[in-house]
Amino acid sequence: MTQLEAARQGIITPEMRRVAAREGVAPDFIRDEVARGRLVIPANRRHLAGSSGQPPAEPAAERPYPPAGAGHPGAPPEAAYWVNQTVSQRAAALAEGTVLRGERAPRRLDPMGIGRMITTKINANIGASPVTSDTAAEVEKLRWAQRYGADALMDLSTGGRLDECRQAIIDHATIPIGTVPIYGMIVGRRIEDLTYDVILAEIERQARQGVDFFTIHAGVLREHLPLVASRVTGIVSRGGALLAKWMIHHGRQNPMYELFDEISAIMREYDVTYSLGDGLRPGCLADASDAAQLAELRTLGELVARARAAGVQVMVEGPGHVPLDQIGWNMRLEQEICDDAPFYVLGPLVTDVFPGYDHITSAIGAAEAARHGAAMLCYVTPKEHVGLPRAEDVRAGCIAYKIAAHAGDIARGIAGARRWDDDLSRARAALNWPKQFELAFDGETARALHDEDLEVDTEFCAMCGHDWCSMRISKEIAAFASGKDPAFQPARAAQRSPGPGDAGRELLRRRARMMPCHSELEPDAERARIIKARVAAKLA
Ligand code: SF4
Repeated sequence: MTQLEAARQGIITPEMRRVAAREGVAPDFIRDEVARGRLVIPANRRHLAGSSGQPPAEPAAERPYPPAGAGHPGAPPEAAYWVNQTVSQRAAALAEGTVLRGERAPRRLDPMGIGRMITTKINANIGASPVTSDTAAEVEKLRWAQRYGADALMDLSTGGRLDECRQAIIDHATIPIGTVPIYGMIVGRRIEDLTYDVILAEIERQARQGVDFFTIHAGVLREHLPLVASRVTGIVSRGGALLAKWMIHHGRQNPMYELFDEISAIMREYDVTYSLGDGLRPGCLADASDAAQLAELRTLGELVARARAAGVQVMVEGPGHVPLDQIGWNMRLEQEICDDAPFYVLGPLVTDVFPGYDHITSAIGAAEAARHGAAMLCYVTPKEHVGLPRAEDVRAGCIAYKIAAHAGDIARGIAGARRWDDDLSRARAALNWPKQFELAFDGETARALHDEDLEVDTEFCAMCGHDWCSMRISKEIAAFASGKDPAFQPARAAQRSPGPGDAGRELLRRRARMMPCHSELEPDAERARIIKARVAAKLA
């Protein structure tokens, strides 16, 4: 029985209970949302058990999970959202290797919900390419993605040993793993040679491995292809382009569409969730919201109903390049046409002229999408359009998308989501630097940037200096509440900084090559002495 079938029968599964605990809502609310189809829990039974591609040995009810009372440091129960944990909290959870140990694999899945009535999630894409392929490097990228806030991850490998790499990623992941099975179908084969048997065999193989959600481009139909003819960037989805070529070569309908019921039967057996691919998504602003995109969306609406009828959970993928003013309309249209199936959007990028910075151009669109009800945001890294992301790009993409998702949660009025911001603001107003960095999502980076200029935590920072520090002045005005919350006061008005950690020091080292300004990083003894003397004078 899938999560969807259980919910329809009124059953609250252990996975629904876990999602409810992580979201701070009642289990029957999660069950009702799953039954309605507005929330999905991508959780392959084999990944839930961590059985490394084997049938699970123990019943699901006997698997313990870490305490759910998480959230930002000091979060009260009503604001304790799992998604609001900081990088250092995540690193500590990842280092804890026993609670989420799998039956055979090092790790197993911690169930996570995707739906617009709960917190916004982010997905990270990784994967080896024919140019660069290394399973160990991909597992390392998974670790970075989990550490920097990914709630789900897609293995988009198109090169190297695909099966081995996929299994390694699943076996090390506590977050749901998605794939695009057509990639595995055409390795070593021309797309024209793809057969129905190959399609079903690959779907079954990946479901057996424990993949939690599949991107299936079943919505691209033969009759949609003429609508692409005048586009500036044609078909930018790899799956969409491959299937278009197959349809034109064979003069037949999309095989994923034709086989949809057979694919659904396999996915139901393992409880794999559909992520209905947007094979005709726009690849530039000029193609956004065009006839091809909307024609495919209507087919996706039909497929949502067919997937649900087969007892399979389903979400829908959304457009990749959309002008800011069209994003809200696109979100509402999907909700209407696809009966409110969770919308999983790829960005979208709101401008096309910033390659090298597309984690930023897309995070702006992602925040707007989240505000209008997108349930999961697929990250974009600085390497988008120009190369294969490395671990550092995974980090940059995750952070940009955590910002977008959290901004969306605040704008949508998720109860308690803003408590994190308010706590950090109180620490900031009190000029309590240690507390501010403890509450910051990536406090390591924030601490390093602060200490780059000033090795002392005191009543100002290097931005304005003592006399111009408006935070300090506001704190001194008795009539203002600013900076006076007793729970957020620093231990002392001025104290030596504990200094950045390893990652922070490395960051400063890179920056210091340009302009040394931190005594520990200053190779010249005389200059280091001057910096130290400056700090001592400030502490006096
Ligand atoms: S010196 Fe300026 S930037 Fe720094 S804490 Fe004071 S007001 Fe803020």
